[in-house]
Amino acid sequence: MKAAVGIDIGGTKIAIGLVREDGMVLREMEFPTNVDSGPDQALNKMVQHIRSMYSVEPNIIGIGIGSPGPLDTREGKILSPPNLQTWHGYPLVKKIESAFQTKVKLMNDADAAAFAEYYYSHRSGYNHMMYVTVSTGIGGGLILNGKLYEGALSGAGEIGHMSMESCGPICGCGKMGCLESFSSGTGMMNAWKQKLTRLQQPIDPNWTGKDLFEQAASGEMTAAEVVMNGVDYLARGISQAVQLLNPELVVLGGGVILAQPTFYKQIVQRVPSYLLEHHRRNLTFSIAEQGRNAGFKGAAAIIHAENY
Ligand code: BGC
Ligand code: ZN
Repeated sequence: MKAAVGIDIGGTKIAIGLVREDGMVLREMEFPTNVDSGPDQALNKMVQHIRSMYSVEPNIIGIGIGSPGPLDTREGKILSPPNLQTWHGYPLVKKIESAFQTKVKLMNDADAAAFAEYYYSHRSGYNHMMYVTVSTGIGGGLILNGKLYEGALSGAGEIGHMSMESCGPICGCGKMGCLESFSSGTGMMNAWKQKLTRLQQPIDPNWTGKDLFEQAASGEMTAAEVVMNGVDYLARGISQAVQLLNPELVVLGGGVILAQPTFYKQIVQRVPSYLLEHHRRNLTFSIAEQGRNAGFKGAAAIIHAENY
């Protein structure tokens, strides 16, 4: 059976998988992105791992790459993703193409994950699906009329940079008050640290998102407030997108959602209160069934789908 390589580039980690056309993952590996060290080092690691996959399957039919946007998917370049500052302008597709003589496709990471969810989990039940990832950043992918909708410049579904407040925190994209600045993993951590600083409370530099959610669950007020805000802004952002697009299914994924089932439940409970009855009635939610592999599986699935 045919196999393709899928790469999922994130602000925190890069995951690579060798995926068969039926979705079976033959090999997978991941390593930290180390954004500060720039893209060349990460490229070397990607090339090294993909080479090792060729020894498992010499007839790889192509390489799909999911990356945070904005991207120039036609030129195969990373443009200006807020969480990949040192990669701006990087011609990733050319670099991978020159290492491997095979087809290479670049797409938005949330689009790739949306495609994996649809292709491998939800294809038979739904025609209109919205996928939202909450991780280092917040992104969205859309399946409309049974097809992935990438928009004019592969920028469709950029839900994380919807403006929620005109004077909110500064987002990595340069704007103020984006959904990502309130509700992403990094956004919530920043908000928590700022609140504690204002209250002159101690901050442990080793705290991660896990500590934030644990403290919130144990009733620590600042942490609980930050998480509550995160839920509320996400619910508002999702509900606005639902009213615009009228999907039947909303799938939530990404590192923060997958690690925090309570956070997922709170969002799902909150969205309906912001919706018209008409939208509320026929909307189903699901947690990403492809889990943490959704990104690379979707990037590989696009290669398979194009080969049909
Ligand atoms: C980017 C999106 C991406 C999301 C998750 C956002 O900052 O703008 O394109 O999907 O992060 O990585
Ligand atoms: Zn933004």
